[in-house]
Amino acid sequence: MPLQPSRTVDELRELQELTGDENGAQRVAWTDTWERAREWLRGKLAGLPLDEQIDQAGNQWFTLPGSSERELLIGGHIDSVPNGGWLDGCLNVMGGAEVLRRLAEEGAPDVTVRLVNWADEEGARFGRSLFGSSAASGSMTDRDELRQLVDREGVRLPDALAEHGVDLDRATEARSQLDNAAAYLELHIEQGPVLEGLDLPLGAVLGTFGVERHRITWTGQAAHAGSTPMDRRRDALAGAAKLALEIRSIAARVGDGAVCTSGGVVCKPGIVTSVVETAEQLLDQRHLDADKLAEMLSQAQAAAARFAQEENVEVAWDRIWGIEPILFHPELVDMCDAAVEDVAGASHRLPSGPLHDAAEVSRAGIPTVMLFVQSLRGLSHTRLEDTKPEHIELSVEALDRLTDQAIAWVAAGRP
Ligand SMILES: [Zn+2]
Repeated sequence: MPLQPSRTVDELRELQELTGDENGAQRVAWTDTWERAREWLRGKLAGLPLDEQIDQAGNQWFTLPGSSERELLIGGHIDSVPNGGWLDGCLNVMGGAEVLRRLAEEGAPDVTVRLVNWADEEGARFGRSLFGSSAASGSMTDRDELRQLVDREGVRLPDALAEHGVDLDRATEARSQLDNAAAYLELHIEQGPVLEGLDLPLGAVLGTFGVERHRITWTGQAAHAGSTPMDRRRDALAGAAKLALEIRSIAARVGDGAVCTSGGVVCKPGIVTSVVETAEQLLDQRHLDADKLAEMLSQAQAAAARFAQEENVEVAWDRIWGIEPILFHPELVDMCDAAVEDVAGASHRLPSGPLHDAAEVSRAGIPTVMLFVQSLRGLSHTRLEDTKPEHIELSVEALDRLTDQAIAWVAAGRP
């Protein structure tokens, strides 16, 4: 049977019906609903010549053996956030399932093709994202911290995993799954407004942003709001406020998609009758270019030092978290761009703001690319998340075309 992209739309609606409610998708990883979704996927692929396997990290693999042991992987995640949308993660899986069906129909492909449904991409229950893909990529180095994680009901992560057949101590053995992997493809909704703004259905993803996250503590002096003249104040909030506005100019100056967010400021004593003594500010900076990301950080630090002097307060920086930009494979990006242009008439190359399983696979040294499909109003992680059905169909067609090209690329001994 030829590719039937409309079947993907139908199946996604079916999955939404099966595992969602009036508030949205409820396929949180390591829950019964998530397990039901995995069983449903198994049923959807039954009858095809595929080997199914759940690895030590809970990732679900469907393998279509080819003439070569080298593998092309297509990935996604069927887990969702609570009250999530109907497309995030599962579009990737169901689009990949449709491509597998089409390939299986045509007999053994030139290379082995595997669909992977990564476990717990979202980290919605325990706060740790990319569980299954980080176990497979070898970047899961926080097992001691993982052992301590508890959900809101007080259930420990290792116990929740055990209920689904996963032993945390053996999760990183999933690494062997990537032994023969030659390339990795992932389709995803954009989750942002760029493609919609350009009136384009699809785009090729260049990589995922590098991130610098800092806690900035401004320290002044609490003082009475009535008795302290304006020129005698040491107002910690004034420094934070100046920086919150300055990061806009920094992003504009650095450009090329730079984004900076001052995501929160907590003031103490936090009462109406006192000048703010301490302001704890959270700053998130992202860029696809490592040098430009470093430049954004140093500009913000220089500006903060200046504002501290102007306001007669102190400022201290604490790095909370960071990750390098992850660039996808240039030949695969070109291939993806061409597939999009063939199917949709025009393409656009764009970075990804959110991290994805693809970033983990790419970090493991496997040539990777992602394909984005337009998100309406740029919304995601809400039941309002949506994409036009005709765009979903185009995305499956583009993934199908990209898959054929990637198979030929791997079969030819690339990369
Ligand atoms: Zn996702």
